[in-house]
Order: sequence, then structure tokens, then C-alpha cells
Amino acid sequence: LAKGMGKGGWQRYQSDLAHAMVQRLEMRTQLTEAIEDEQFILQFQPIVEIAEQRVTGVEALVRWQHPTRGLLGPFHFVEAAEENGAIVGIGNWVMREALRQLAEWKAADPGTSLRYISVNVSPRQFRAADFVEQVHTALEQAGARPDWLLLEITESLVLKDAEKVIQDLRALRAMGVRIAIDDFGTGYSSLSYLRQMPVDVLKLDKSFIDDILTSRQQHALVDAIVTLAGNLDLTVVAEGIEEAGQRTALKTMGCHYGQGYHFAKPVWPAEIPALTGSAEPAALSA
Ligand code: C2E
Ligand code: MG
Ligand code: MG
Ligand code: MG
Repeated sequence: LAKGMGKGGWQRYQSDLAHAMVQRLEMRTQLTEAIEDEQFILQFQPIVEIAEQRVTGVEALVRWQHPTRGLLGPFHFVEAAEENGAIVGIGNWVMREALRQLAEWKAADPGTSLRYISVNVSPRQFRAADFVEQVHTALEQAGARPDWLLLEITESLVLKDAEKVIQDLRALRAMGVRIAIDDFGTGYSSLSYLRQMPVDVLKLDKSFIDDILTSRQQHALVDAIVTLAGNLDLTVVAEGIEEAGQRTALKTMGCHYGQGYHFAKPVWPAEIPALTGSAEPAALSA
């Protein structure tokens, strides 16, 4: 690796590596403090009913207002937080704050098109012994109905410790909370396996949507998944829709829900009422 770098290059490489390591170690301590300091903040991305272009849900997406590095997206810290366990506290804060925010939007506008909030749950957070209890408490604190909450889990979670996970998923659904498989298609689970899983929604990963206009095979694959999912009574949300053509193609396939820059990027809470309000005409572009 270091061959041909020369002596100066090798030293620079070593000091870059040391710097990266120090930064990672620093981040672990900072992540734990950040919860107490309330340095996390949420953006929300609309989830849209494709045919009507109506916003029926929003996904809560966490950001970290880092004391020195500015606003950081999840790519910069979620993995580290998963490794040191901070994700449990962060994730439970996200769930409480998201439900509080939804309750506020609903109270401010009883005619809002918003029906639910989608919250990402990390494997470590889900596996915590008291997770179901955390959900219960979060709903109660916010005065939220269980069907206001959609929990996004990953395929990898379902594949490991299947028995315990399925038990908890059943308990959550018995409460009335809905479950989504996030980034569907990037992991290993198959649709036939999913049929036995207590889930309600498939979020079809952006990598599947990217090429539906340019690849006939990719189009056929997505079409087949949408049809099969429908037959299994699963709702499909297509992620990462960036072009009008993709929206049209998905609508023709019978995919009812979508999310992506074509409709709206993740926005700050104050921008949501204009996109979901009963007072104004829908603000989303056609
Ligand atoms: P995700 O759950 O699949 O969320 C969608 C991500 O794709 C978001 O990135 C969103 O901004 C981005 N996105 C949406 N539409 C488009 C599009 O049309 N084009 C492109 N290029 N990107 C689009 P973000 O906010 O950076 O989040 C990244 C990931 O971080 C999320 O992927 C999720 O796995 C994780 N994450 C976010 N918030 C949380 C959280 O509260 N807890 C946990 N455990 N993970 C979270
Ligand atoms: Mg998600
Ligand atoms: Mg996703
Ligand atoms: Mg994704």
C-alpha cells in the first residue's frame, strides 16, 4: 500500500491515519454527551401518495449539530453510535421527538393530510430488552395513537435472532404500530421469507429505482416486486424518486407511495405545514 509513496508520503499517510483514529475516538465520547446536550435535531422528508401527490407521512431523519464540525448527517455518526451503543439513546430520542412533532402538527391543523411518522430503528436499539416498552412510553408521552407510528427496520435485523425479533414485532403490531422493512432489496431476505414476517410496508431501495427508466430488466424486477408485494398485502414505498418519469413508471406499475427529491428533500419542521396543510392548496409540484 505504502510502496511508491516516498518517505514524505508515508509519513503523511500515517499522520492522516492517526488523525482519523483520534477523531473516531473523540466522536465516541462526544456522541454520549451529545444526547444530554440536546445536540441532535430532526429533518423530515415527505412520503407521498403517488397518484394524488398528497403527503400522507413523513420520515424523521436525524442530524447532529456538532460543537465544532457543523451539521452532520447520519452517514458521519450512525455507524459509530451503533458500535458504542449511543444509538439506543439517540434512537429513542428520535422516536419521542418525532411523535411529539407529529402531535403538534396534527393539533395545529386538524385537516392535515399527515397520517403517520416514519422512524428509523437501528438493530441495536430494537434488540434492547425494553424496546417495546420504549415505544409504548413514547406514544403515551406524545398522546399519539399507535397507528401514527411506522417503525423502519432493516432486513439484517430480521435475519438474526429471528424468534425474539418476530415476537417483538408481533407485540408492536398488536399495539397497532406498523412496521416497514427499510432499504428493501439491499439485504438477503426474499419476498417469500417476508410473507411470514409481521411487517406492513416495504421501502424499496433507491438503487432499485435508479435504473427503471434505463434498464428493461430493472423495470421488470421492480414491476414484479410491486405486484408480489401487493398480493402479499404489503404496502410499497419507492425510495429515491428523483425524476417525473420514474414517478409515472411506478404509478403505472401500481406502486402507491413514493419518497425522493422529485417530491421533496428532507426539510426543517417549519416547512412541513405548507406541504400538508388543509388551508392552502398542495405545495408540491406536479
Ligand atoms: P434511509 O432511512 O434509507 O433514508 C433515506 C435517505 O435517503 C436520507 O438520507 C434521504 O435524505 C435520502 N434521500 C431521500 N430521497 C432521495 C433522493 O431522491 N435522492 C437521493 N440521492 N437521496 C435521497 P439521510 O438523511 O442522509 O439518512 C441516511 C440514512 O441514515 C437513512 O437512510 C437511515 O438509514 C439512517 N438514519 C437517518 N435517521 C436515523 C435515525 O434516527 N436512526 C437511525 N438508526 N438511522 C437513521
Ligand atoms: Mg429509513
Ligand atoms: Mg430507506
Ligand atoms: Mg435507503
